[in-house]
Amino acid sequence: MSTSPLLITGAGRGIGAATALLMAGRGHDIAINYRRDAAAADALAQRIRAMGRRAITLPADVADEAAVHAMFRRIDEELGPLGGLVNNAGIVAMKARLDEMDIARWRRMLDINVLGTMLCSQLAVRRMSTRHGGTGGAIVNLSSMAAVLGSPGMYVDYAASKGAIDSFTIGLARELATEGVRVNAVRPGIIETEIHADGGEPDRAQTSAGLIPMKRPGRADEVAAAIGWLLSDEASYTTGAIVDVSGGR
Ligand code: NAP
Repeated sequence: MSTSPLLITGAGRGIGAATALLMAGRGHDIAINYRRDAAAADALAQRIRAMGRRAITLPADVADEAAVHAMFRRIDEELGPLGGLVNNAGIVAMKARLDEMDIARWRRMLDINVLGTMLCSQLAVRRMSTRHGGTGGAIVNLSSMAAVLGSPGMYVDYAASKGAIDSFTIGLARELATEGVRVNAVRPGIIETEIHADGGEPDRAQTSAGLIPMKRPGRADEVAAAIGWLLSDEASYTTGAIVDVSGGR
């Protein structure tokens, strides 16, 4: 993949922003997708341009098919051939038991976390796969340790959506194995970002430290480091892998 342009979804903050800065530092131009916070995306783009790389900001809900198609067209026109995709955009919802949830919540969770990842991957594959005349590339999906732990009493719907990401990663990796596109996932544990506020527990990363063998939450840059390796040519023989970045939990 050398230093070809990368699309990072949900890149305005958290793990996505940390990945954007890491990869810009390694010479990649970055397409920054965001949903609501244009100011954060613009500020990140400025930092990347100050590093000497190109950056464009792309508003789109990853679950909105027309918006995602338009986003990929802008990348084609403004940055050139895509070399990698990080499916980072994802949501949790308020802590609840299954018997307290409604179906609208499940649809939204699966739309963004699963269908958004599949849709962005489809459009990236149509550009990067040698089957479609591309020169190859890499996809990294954001799963979660919730896929393994199940998140009982908190958000089993989120855990199920991330379980789907694990299966999708394995299947797509094998589907594309001879087409120059590697597909991997990272499974973060509890990472200090703003996502926990959306689950109703802004302090979750700190209050959960005791559950983690390393006795501390992770940082966004520690997850970005794993994503960066999977995107890089150093991971040239790694596909279908799911890398736990969870402090041992
Ligand atoms: P975050 O700080 O909440 O950032 C997520 C970003 O995704 C936000 O900038 C958000 O933008 C964007 N986003 C949400 N829905 C979107 C949509 N439909 N379309 C486009 N962008 C959207 O979360 P994070 O902690 O960095 O998490 C990044 C990924 O890692 C997620 O997939 C998450 O599930 C996964 N993960 C995180 C943890 C953790 O402990 N932090 C653990 C395991 C896995 P808006 O605010 O504008 O919507």
